[in-house]
Amino acid sequence: MIPVIVIGAGLAGLNLARALNAPIIEKSRGVGGRMATRRIDEEKFDHGLPIWPETPIAQKILKGRFVPNGMTALAKKLATGLTIHLDTRVLRMEKIPTGWRLHTNKEAFECAKVILTAPIPQALELLEDSGLRIDSGWTIPYHKAIVGLFRLELTAKDQDIEWDGHQLVLQRNKGLCPDGVALIVSPAISEKWFEDSDEKILKQTTQLLLQRLGPRHLDHDEIKKWRYSRPASFHTRPYIKAGQHLYICGDGFLSPGVEGSLMSVESLLRDQFPVL
Ligand SMILES: Cc1cc2nc3c(=O)[nH]c(=O)nc-3n(C[C@H](O)[C@H](O)[C@H](O)COP(=O)(O)OP(=O)(O)OC[C@H]3O[C@@H](n4cnc5c(N)ncnc54)[C@H](O)[C@@H]3O)c2cc1C
Repeated sequence: MIPVIVIGAGLAGLNLARALNAPIIEKSRGVGGRMATRRIDEEKFDHGLPIWPETPIAQKILKGRFVPNGMTALAKKLATGLTIHLDTRVLRMEKIPTGWRLHTNKEAFECAKVILTAPIPQALELLEDSGLRIDSGWTIPYHKAIVGLFRLELTAKDQDIEWDGHQLVLQRNKGLCPDGVALIVSPAISEKWFEDSDEKILKQTTQLLLQRLGPRHLDHDEIKKWRYSRPASFHTRPYIKAGQHLYICGDGFLSPGVEGSLMSVESLLRDQFPVL
């Protein structure tokens, strides 16, 4: 019997798995979750979390604002030596006398305890699909994010900019694609455009970029959509005990983002796993 299984190989899941020596089940083909780096024409772009936060707990994991080789490289480093079942989505959790049976798109796993680190709305969907009780107070809204990835002519004067809630992040400042930018569209506009066709979103995102920078020649353009990018609010409690030996933790707790995710992990480990 596996003592603990962690669901999700993002920042929270990787840190939990390292502390507990627990296996991870992850639905994607790679690790990192919203710490995500994409390769375009052999050049790298961070298309999720753009900058490593300068908050006390985040800086304990990595000093500075930039992650050498992109955010995924940090996730891969945290994943070293862990057992991670990739491409494996937990579809349903079944309570059994010894703990939990996790039904996935592949095999089933049995364990004594489960920690679920998906964004809270996804975690609650999984509870619902499992026929488990959900308290209405557990829901937390998340911002959507549309991220435009572009390669274009940049000048030495171009810098990171924030305007009207949009965020333009030059990849060269992070040692990634020298002529690449990520444009994180504001939560309000991302919400408005999210259900449009990808073609329309790309056109609108490109217009937003060029309105700000002026006419430029583009060598590459594409978009990435995040249905859950950052919590729009957060729980003041550090995690949820959703059932017997079933916990939800991650970035919907204590602070909306990386800091919250890491504080939630710290609290859960301290309270529920003091001596494993
Ligand atoms: C565009 C963007 C900008 C951001 N900007 C900031 C910022 O400026 N500051 C900040 O602090 N934070 C920011 N964030 C948020 C930050 O990236 C997250 O708070 C942090 O990465 C959360 O990590 P996590 O491990 O809690 O969750 P995630 O990284 O979401 O990890 C959860 C993992 O669970 C997996 N999973 C989910 N359901 C299942 C299932 N059923 N079966 C198996 N696996 C499953 C997912 O695939 C994922 O890998 C931003 C995020 C985005 C996308």
